Amino acid sequence: MVASTELIIGRLLDKYNDKLHTELIHKNNTELLVAVLLSPRCNDNQVNKVTKELFKKYKTFDDYSSANIKSLYKDLSGLNYYKTKARHLKKASGILIEKFNGNVPRTMPELLELPGVGRKVANVILNEGFNIAKYGIAVDTHCIVVSQRLGLSKNKTADKIEVDLKKKVPERYWKVVSNLFIALGRDTCTAREKFCERCVLKDLCPSSEI
Ligand code: SF4
Repeated sequence: MVASTELIIGRLLDKYNDKLHTELIHKNNTELLVAVLLSPRCNDNQVNKVTKELFKKYKTFDDYSSANIKSLYKDLSGLNYYKTKARHLKKASGILIEKFNGNVPRTMPELLELPGVGRKVANVILNEGFNIAKYGIAVDTHCIVVSQRLGLSKNKTADKIEVDLKKKVPERYWKVVSNLFIALGRDTCTAREKFCERCVLKDLCPSSEI
């Protein structure tokens, strides 16, 4: 039987109360959007290493939009899929200038207009940048693994798992659940191996080996 999500989240909040925010380093919402846009298929350390230099050189969406694409490729070359990400970033910056006056929009439909922005990226921007969680839950690879092992979803894709989680997780936890599952996924419930003996959910989880 699947334990109540209240109980699961309560345990995770006790254990990972210092992990409630993204580890992508940023000083404002422009930097947040850029960092999150660059993050798919990379770990946070990889992104932070690249953005440390990138943010010294590019301050506004105008800077990204007017950048020479080859220079941008070079500046992002420490990332997986950097060429695609560079093209998305340049194009998204143009749209942000033309349609949103150079500001980061604060609704899901508007964010989804930007190339390279899917629901996960948009949810992170809304949660971290605007404290808005009403649109949903950011589901990354850690969330996928943890949700499946906890029996909260049988689905395989992030968008379908988000739908399942939204039904099961009370809305007041939508902002934190993603970062809690990421913390658990990095700590004890990794995709490769589960360390159930030291997991705070070992007595609640249907996949526990204890
Ligand atoms: S008990 Fe094991 S399978 Fe379940 S969440 Fe913890 S580490 Fe993952």
